[in-house]
Formats: sequence, structure tokens, C-alpha cells
Amino acid sequence: MTLARMHADFASLEDLLTRVGQQTAGFRQSLDTRPVAALSRIDQPAVSQLSDQGLGADGAVALFQDAVSPHISGSPGPRYFGFVTGGSTPAALAGDWLASAADQNLGMPGDSAASQLTEQTIALLLDLFDLPPALFDGAFTSGATASNVVGLSVGRAWCAEQCGIDVVADGALALGETIVFAGTPHATLIKAMGIIGIGRNNWQGVSCLEGTEAIDPVALADALAASDAPNKIVAASAGTVTATDFDDLNAVADLCAKHGAWLHVDAAFGLFARTTPALSALVRGMERAGSICADGHKWLNVPYESGLFFTKRVDLLEQVFGVGAAYLTVDDPAPMYLRRGLESSQRWRALPAWMTLQAYGRAGVREIVENNCRLAAKLGDWIETAPGFVQLSPTNLHTVLFAVTSGNGPDDDRTAALLSAVNATGEVFMTPGAFGGRGGIRAAISNWITTDSDIDKTCAALSAVRAQLG
Ligand SMILES: *Cc1c(COP(=O)(O)O)cnc(C)c1O
Repeated sequence: MTLARMHADFASLEDLLTRVGQQTAGFRQSLDTRPVAALSRIDQPAVSQLSDQGLGADGAVALFQDAVSPHISGSPGPRYFGFVTGGSTPAALAGDWLASAADQNLGMPGDSAASQLTEQTIALLLDLFDLPPALFDGAFTSGATASNVVGLSVGRAWCAEQCGIDVVADGALALGETIVFAGTPHATLIKAMGIIGIGRNNWQGVSCLEGTEAIDPVALADALAASDAPNKIVAASAGTVTATDFDDLNAVADLCAKHGAWLHVDAAFGLFARTTPALSALVRGMERAGSICADGHKWLNVPYESGLFFTKRVDLLEQVFGVGAAYLTVDDPAPMYLRRGLESSQRWRALPAWMTLQAYGRAGVREIVENNCRLAAKLGDWIETAPGFVQLSPTNLHTVLFAVTSGNGPDDDRTAALLSAVNATGEVFMTPGAFGGRGGIRAAISNWITTDSDIDKTCAALSAVRAQLG
């Protein structure tokens, strides 16, 4: 019975998708006016029945519209500044829909052009980020967390190679201790250490330069020289998540070369600094990394889930993630992407990225980055002069980090109260951050759709809420 319904829905697929397309456009176009973050919850009984016969596609779409849609976050919209949340360009959204429609399994080449297009997209991205294609290759992942897992795995395989050990076959115990040196690692890097069996406690914190989250190269030199760990990985940050500070990659790379350490760079959003001359000094030396983690779903402005991973040692990547089975032999020049990441079956993640690069080119990415940074500077300047606010760290990229002041300094309680109150207005959404022992508020501007008028509205909302706080 329900199979017949599927056939009927399929016969009118164009109508179904046209309606969904209209609803989608309506949602996207409402982002400027609807509450930025929906702080309400779905009414559970309305959505929790598994009926025997189902509602049909129309019924299910209607149920979504009624019961779910009102509670969807405006996170793709122009005043959602939480975390580091990229939007989706129109072309990227179209590419993502087409990826679902085509529903290719990227794991294996041979019966589809998906792998070939993915290979091309990686080449386009290397070009965009000015990373030498003769040195780097890579893969799409589900996000920067996965790219950190993959990067540390490759780094460890490199360490093992140095000692003549096969860590993939014989395990971490055979290799012995691996220490990861980092200044201000992202939480997901520490998580990755636990996942792959390096162990979360085997992170060695290295001091940062005064008043920043960027590693102090002198402290790193001392730490590496003093360490008797047989296997060393340095996880550099190219864009820390709170103060958006950048490690000096050339200095770090020199030390890695000297002390026999693998250099992995977490550049989830910072890699995009290489797309504009205005920012490229921050990420000088990136090409010296052994592996680089980045995100498409942040500053490339493609939908979730789009992570990027680049490495000079794709052979080690394939050693770690490769599998052998008779049914996995294929004669095709394109890479077998199941050998380059966690998943065997993989979504065609390259298509949205390829689509936005084709649609808007190099300048499209550059202008998103430059415009976001310009708007962040504008908000930062306003914070500097507005009574009752202070910047906790200079705005050097797309994130403004600030606190509420009272009396003569930052006031953690009022900062937290302001954040809740401003988010509750539905005008704007931001997330907390801690820096220099103080609680702060982060506004990360990472979406093409944000304009000057959104910054004006944000300043007005901040002013109004600050006045109410007293
Ligand atoms: C966002 C982020 C991550 C994690 O990325 P996901 O895409 O959320 O998995 C890792 N590192 C940095 C620096 C980030 O900003």
C-alpha cells in the first residue's frame, strides 16, 4: 500500500519539490525578520508518532511546516553570530540539493563521475588557498573535528614511519607515547587525541604570547628540546576560536623540522585568510604543514557537513584509512575516497563547494571574508566607544570578543546577563567565550548575507539591553 504511495509521490515529484522549493525560499527570505534563534521547543506529541501507513510526502511536509519549522534556528541568517557559523550561498544550497538528488556514493570511483569532480574540487580549493598542488592532496570530511582526527592519525603514522613501526597494524602501544604540543588547541583537537588513542592527557600545553592565544615560539622551542617523547606532533592554531589568534607558522615549522615533529595546523576558518592579501600575513608558512584541517561549512558558506582536509602525505592517509577487500577493486584513475577518511560510504560533499566556486569564483570567497572582517571591525569600533562595553581582545578577523563593564572594569555577571538578554530579543544571537580569566561574548561574523544594516541593528539591540541592565 505504502509502496504504491511512494510510486504516486514519485510520479508527482516535480510538484512536491516545487512546493518544498517555495517553502525553502520563503524560509531563507524570512531570515531577516524572524527571530534569529528559536528558543522554543517542538511539541513532542505532534511529531513522535510512528504511524503504520504514514502521511504520504505531502502530509509529512505539512507536518514539518506546522510542527517543526517554527522552531528552526535562524542560524543561516544575517545576525546569527554564534560559534563560527557560515551561511550557504544560493549556489551552494543548489549544489547541496543536487548532491542529494544525485545521491552518489563517493566512497568508490568507477561507476560515477563524483570522485573525479571531487578530485577537481580539491584542486580548485588548493588553488584558492594558494597551497602547492604538487605537494598537497586531500579529501572532504564531515567537518573540522573529523579533519583533526584524520590529521592527527596521519601525523602519528608519520611518527611511526620515522621509527620503522607500523602503527596501523600494530597499534599505539607498539609506537609508545605520542605527545601533542599546542598553545590554544580547539576542544575538538583534544577530543581527537582521545579518539585515536593518543590520549587526551598527552597534550602538552605550551605558553602563549602575552595577552594572546598564539603560541610563544620560544616556549615551544624549550618544550620540544626538553621532551624525551619518542613521537612528537605540534598542533598549531591558525585562528583560535575565541581571540582568533594565529600561531606563527613559519617559526613553528622551523621548530618541527629541527625537533622531528609532525606539523598539523587547525585552520578551520583561518585558512580563508589566505584568500585575501589583506589577511594572508596571518597564515604565512601554512604551506609548510604536513596536514591542514579546515571547514567548508564555515567560511566557504556551504551547508553542513563540509570539512576539508589537506596533507602532503596522502600515502599515509591511505595507509591509515585504506581497507582491502575483493569487492573494493576498481579500475579508475580517480581516488578511492573511502581510503581517505572515516566513512566508507560518503555523500558527494564536493558538489556544493564546486557549485559555489563555479558560481562566484575566487572573488566570491575573498569578498565574503573581507566583508565579514570589515563588519566585525565596525562592530568592534562601536564596542570601543559605547558606554558599558569593552573589547577583550582586538578584532583582527571576523570575531568580536567583548564584555560588559561596570565601575571600572569588565563585569562577568553583567556580561552573562547581557548575553542571555540580547539572545532573547531574537534580534541577534551570540555565544560566550572566556579570555584572560574573564567571561566574554563572541560575535563571529561568517555569513555572506550579513550587511552593514545588520551591524546597526546589533548595536541598537546591545545598547537597549545594556541600558536595561543598569
Ligand atoms: C569549528 C572548529 C572546529 C570543529 O569543527 P566542526 O566543523 O564543528 O567539526 C575545529 N577547530 C576550530 C579552530 C574550529 O573553529
